Amino acid sequence: MATNVRINGQRLWDSLMEMARIGATAKGGVCRLALTDLDRQSRDLFVRWCKEAGCSITVDRMGNIFARRPGKDDSLPPVMTGSHLDSQPTGGKFDGAYGVLAGLEVVRTLNDANYETNAPIEVAVWTNEEGSRFAPAMIASGVFAGVFDLDYGLGRADTEGKTMGEELKRIGYAGDAEVGGRDIGAFFEAHIEQGPILEAEGKTIGVVRGVQGIRWYEITVTGQEAHAGPTPMPRRKDALVGAARMVEAVNRIGLENQPDACATVGMMQVSPNSRNVIPGTVFFTADLRHPDADTLAAMSAALQQECETIAEKAGLTLDFNEIWYSPPVGFAPECVAAVQKAADDLAIPNRKIVSGAGHDAVYLSRVAPTAMVFVPCENGISHNEIENATAEDLAAGCDVLLRAMVERANAV
Ligand SMILES: [Zn+2]
Repeated sequence: MATNVRINGQRLWDSLMEMARIGATAKGGVCRLALTDLDRQSRDLFVRWCKEAGCSITVDRMGNIFARRPGKDDSLPPVMTGSHLDSQPTGGKFDGAYGVLAGLEVVRTLNDANYETNAPIEVAVWTNEEGSRFAPAMIASGVFAGVFDLDYGLGRADTEGKTMGEELKRIGYAGDAEVGGRDIGAFFEAHIEQGPILEAEGKTIGVVRGVQGIRWYEITVTGQEAHAGPTPMPRRKDALVGAARMVEAVNRIGLENQPDACATVGMMQVSPNSRNVIPGTVFFTADLRHPDADTLAAMSAALQQECETIAEKAGLTLDFNEIWYSPPVGFAPECVAAVQKAADDLAIPNRKIVSGAGHDAVYLSRVAPTAMVFVPCENGISHNEIENATAEDLAAGCDVLLRAMVERANAV
């Protein structure tokens, strides 16, 4: 491809702003919950644009949409990109929609340049990425990747008991294509960073090398409830004092494993939660994250050891449970390299980065060589109506996406 081919940044921005009118909120964000009428409108707009760009459209049984631009050899596995059009109830204009419309802009740019890739190009819209209306998140890309059964996915219900299967039919996106089960040459997802790192360092592109691992814990500390007045300090078994030392340990373990570790206690329940009773029981959660599985395991072991020591010294009993482990994901070296080379060739300031949030690309990486392209968002804020990104950064990310996709589509 001619090295001077660039995506049309204004057209990408205009498409984003037109999409953001569907479900627009007063504070400048969007509310477009999965499989609502607004989700249908956003899908209809995407499908219309893709048809106008000459793509053929396939919808699978989970409602995932695939817009396809043929390759020179149309029998080759497609090089795919995409993201999601659903949002949080108070979501922003760019989370998800950027990855979808950047894919459309890649197709439009290839059309303008009359450029034929060897392998076909596909732009995907994954159903219910956010997990806000139907839990868990990333259900439909998960079914595509074989992580969940189709029946499980279609049976997920919202708080009113309406299932994804029923709602897909209602909005006309219960397709008949098999979900997954086909070869994908490569998958790329462009996304706003949803964190502050790129902006703080003045980098325009994050070359995403993977997604960090997560371990979740539920911890119960039990002491003895007693009157806050007559009970002398040395005789107390104060569960909250013990739990407080454990919270401090969680934080310290995070700080000891910089620059990549995160460690958080986000929820605590004190019982009986009465001002003149020494707390008898405290329940709290811990969330540990790190991109390296061994380091994360070591953090986990350190936390358990610290909690046991604290409990023993204070005469408390400890119930320590790990309830969830999501292993770190390392993206495919050849796809990460394609993103890196694209950013370097375009002389765009970039750095390697690990995603702190989950994305459809996490599941896709199980069935296809995968990588992601991050662009900065203002103050690192996302899942918020004030979420913002600049047209220049979004265009730069789309240029990187174009080059990485073309490189992979021609490498076969
Ligand atoms: Zn997203």
